[in-house]
Amino acid sequence: MMTEEERIKEACRWLSQFKNIAILTGAGISKESGIPTFRGKDGMWKKYRVEEMATPYAFQQDPRKVWEWYDWRRQLIMKANPNPAHRTIAEMENIYPKFTVITQNVDGLHKRAGCKNLIELHGNIWRARCIDEERIFGFTEVPLRHIPPQCECGSLIRPDVVWFGEPMPKKEVAEAFTLAEECDVMMVVGTSALVAPAASLPYAAKKNHAYIIEVNLESTPITTIADVSLFGMAGEILPELWSNVKKELDNDKSE
Ligand code: NAD
Repeated sequence: MMTEEERIKEACRWLSQFKNIAILTGAGISKESGIPTFRGKDGMWKKYRVEEMATPYAFQQDPRKVWEWYDWRRQLIMKANPNPAHRTIAEMENIYPKFTVITQNVDGLHKRAGCKNLIELHGNIWRARCIDEERIFGFTEVPLRHIPPQCECGSLIRPDVVWFGEPMPKKEVAEAFTLAEECDVMMVVGTSALVAPAASLPYAAKKNHAYIIEVNLESTPITTIADVSLFGMAGEILPELWSNVKKELDNDKSE
């Protein structure tokens, strides 16, 4: 059994040795920004029945209620800022020749932290779309005079996120699997790894011999396949790990 120090050292070794890195993130990475998760300790599930809100059925039954719930979530997110974990990941992107963040989050905090190579598997809470047309709205373009808002075509406008029971965006999923299969190291941060197909990405990476580094408060199904699991807050672990990696990279340069 490795000590915490040895685990950090191993993770650091892979991150300084390899050049193709994929990061998979979930709601846990935004927890320290003040955005509740769905599951885990203090998850949003306890206060609201997410199954009653984030589903096509809920929207069909009571679109106004669903819009109000999303408004409440948007208010929370608007007040939040990227935390040290988001910022570390954005900094890492500048160093590696191949680096992509695959996120299940809809909050847009990776982008706000400066990430450019980003795949948003579950959409983005700051976009909306017409339920009948292909038309996508940036949030400021949504006609909010009346809730639920309506498109010019007369159909309702909904948040452009993936709801429970809905298919995932094909292009993004295909891209994410290609990246998972090609990467040397996959870091899995703050996800309960229960929602497919995102939860399958670390398995795809592992099958292709990538090293898996997990960062979470507690063990998850990924823990069993992770080469190293670092337990604790992402906002503390990532900056610490990255400062060690930077030292290694600087040493390599000077040799
Ligand atoms: P989840 O809620 O199922 O799990 C959160 C995980 O993060 C748990 O394993 C928990 O132990 C871990 N965690 C909590 N705080 C942490 C911290 N400070 N550092 C490290 N780990 C921490 O989240 P999920 O796996 O992303 O899946 C659920 C769905 O939730 C996704 O589809 C996502 O779209 C949606 N969601 C998104 C947001 C957001 O955009 N911020 C918020 C809530 C839910």
